[in-house]
Amino acid sequence: MSLFSLVAHPHRRFNPLTGDWVLVSPHRTQRPWQGQLEPAASPQSVSYDPACYMCPGNVRANGERNPAYVTTFVFENDFPALLPDTPEGEWKEGDRLLVAEAERGVCRVICFSPRHDLTMAKMDRAALRAVVDVWVAQYEQLGALPYIRHVQIFENRGALMGCSNPHPHCQVWSSATVPNEVRKEQLAFERHQAARGECLLCQYLALERRLGERLVAENLHFTVVVPFWAVWPFEVLILSRHHRTALDRLNSGERDALADILKRVTVRYDHLFEVPFPYSMGFHQRPTDGQPHEEWHLHAHFYPPLLRSATVRKFMVGYEMLAAPQRDITPEYAAARLRETAEVE
Ligand SMILES: [Zn+2]
Ligand SMILES: [Zn+2]
Ligand SMILES: [Zn+2]
Repeated sequence: MSLFSLVAHPHRRFNPLTGDWVLVSPHRTQRPWQGQLEPAASPQSVSYDPACYMCPGNVRANGERNPAYVTTFVFENDFPALLPDTPEGEWKEGDRLLVAEAERGVCRVICFSPRHDLTMAKMDRAALRAVVDVWVAQYEQLGALPYIRHVQIFENRGALMGCSNPHPHCQVWSSATVPNEVRKEQLAFERHQAARGECLLCQYLALERRLGERLVAENLHFTVVVPFWAVWPFEVLILSRHHRTALDRLNSGERDALADILKRVTVRYDHLFEVPFPYSMGFHQRPTDGQPHEEWHLHAHFYPPLLRSATVRKFMVGYEMLAAPQRDITPEYAAARLRETAEVE
């Protein structure tokens, strides 16, 4: 008999119409409604905010006090979507039309800096390199847990993306199963490798570098392109120039180069409409299921919602919710705009 419960434990539910899974975290309904308890936005102009749960020395929701950290700081998410101790279990009804599976995982928060008022664009390369090292360490540490098969590192930046706390930070959600988007890319990498005997993104990168019109920036180890198939107006893809399956395969020079390219991309974004640019970004890399996954090619996606100015954003509504994404400005135009935007603060 399983102790797994749909009302108490994190689980994923299967959508038989699309084949996708949705993550459900019922235990999080105990979470305080932050919109009512906190001011709409924490001030970004101050280097220390006594009300911020990420600033050094402050007390968090669970009563723990943050250390007086000076570089980066990692802690377990106080209201995690996934828990490490969820009992195993499956729930099925109606000839597999209703399918749910218990999901285990660990969710952490990584503070990039003790300074409340910084962003990736405002941090120096040495500080960003320290963040890259923490990403590598977290990927290795969480990925080494026997039940963890995927580690998702992502950053939500700006109130427009639902992130009201400007303190520079990202999250790491690691899970026992490989989530939808990564599973789709996994299949694409496998199929491409099987059909053409080459890595999909190595080939794509070579093609974009030859054509040039969607290139945004580049250093020795990373290239930034607006992908041909971009959905968000100023979406970019950061590609490792060498075939690396995950962050843990980057050598020291490549980690410095990743810090450099992140700085350059975010500075360009901030200059585009002269505002702190909101976005969701994250890395896609080798699942941590113990397989070598040589087909995987490390990359990062940046999905910013702004369209023509600081106040005009793209919504994914109507046709996009029901049929397919649509865009007006072309990826080639977006790449040209980003290319002509200054890379210095
Ligand atoms: Zn803070
Ligand atoms: Zn590759
Ligand atoms: Zn991807």
